[in-house]
Amino acid sequence: MSAILELEDVARAFPVRDALGRAKGAVRAVDGVSLSVPEGAVLAIVGESGCGKSTLGRVMLRLIEADRGAIRFMGDDLRALKPDALRRRRRDMQLIFQDPFASLDPRMTVEEAVAEPLRLHGIVPRAQERERVAELMARVGLRPEQARRWPHEFSGGQRQRIAIARALASQPRLIVGDEPVSALDVSVQAQVINLLQDLIREFRLTFVLISHDLGVVRHIADRVAVMYLGRIVEEGPTAQVFHAPRHPYTRALLAAVPGQGVKAVPLEGDVPSPIDPPSGCRFRTRCPFAEAICTEQAPPLEGGSHAAACHLQHRLPPAVPPAEHDAGGERLRRLQAFFTDRKTNNTGATT
Ligand code: SF4
Repeated sequence: MSAILELEDVARAFPVRDALGRAKGAVRAVDGVSLSVPEGAVLAIVGESGCGKSTLGRVMLRLIEADRGAIRFMGDDLRALKPDALRRRRRDMQLIFQDPFASLDPRMTVEEAVAEPLRLHGIVPRAQERERVAELMARVGLRPEQARRWPHEFSGGQRQRIAIARALASQPRLIVGDEPVSALDVSVQAQVINLLQDLIREFRLTFVLISHDLGVVRHIADRVAVMYLGRIVEEGPTAQVFHAPRHPYTRALLAAVPGQGVKAVPLEGDVPSPIDPPSGCRFRTRCPFAEAICTEQAPPLEGGSHAAACHLQHRLPPAVPPAEHDAGGERLRRLQAFFTDRKTNNTGATT
């Protein structure tokens, strides 16, 4: 599968100032990320809060400018595009936010909100806008006549469906979803995830899912990239990363998922400050396997299609007792029930 999006050594830092406005350092939110997103795949970016995954999602769409590195999207050098060319390219890439209410303008009816990208990118003649909005509403499980209402008249799940319809309006090739279901009730989460899965298949979308919820990631992602303090520490096919994690941080994250069956020392302590990250391996201050080399040298991300950034990745004990692989946790069981009960979830229920 060829890559629709490629990042090479991408970095972005934010200056930090003291109370008097004097520079006192920089938060290195994204620090040397290289990543390839295969066309038509769902790639999940996971990690604890503050690891840089949301910044990375915006940098890859050039909604936040990178300080360095290359971003290639559909053959274009995204960072080199002039404003006009970038505006045209934006039609092909969309972002779905965590908070659907914040992403919809309360002064616009739903019809106006969904029609805006149609008009901006000249997708259909003006006379056909209403008809196209109605099609999009129906496709995300809402009634076309609901388009005349205001965002505050909808539930959280319905608002996220509206945000998805708006993202689909420009007929994008790539959508980045930044925690698109984490603000929703778990039963509504499963409905919206089912909808996203259907749309990804139907429209042959490439989807980058930014999430801290490994239960959701396991169900819908083809590949997973694990971030820690601004860097990718493991990346590979979802099944391999979940069943045979190579990085101690990935193990610790998975050990916290009920029913995953991964045995690992639980994560202790806070994530170190991204203003002054540890030398060598950034995970070494929390890693139970750390050795001297971990302080001295930053481990490269290596291993081919399932890669990890750990000096000891080939010497660590097995992570998953095979007999415990698929034991079910309550949360996973509830999600799985929704995923398998397709009839219930995809018959127009729009909670
Ligand atoms: Fe732990 Fe060393 Fe591997 Fe870092 S490189 S994850 S400190 S063993």
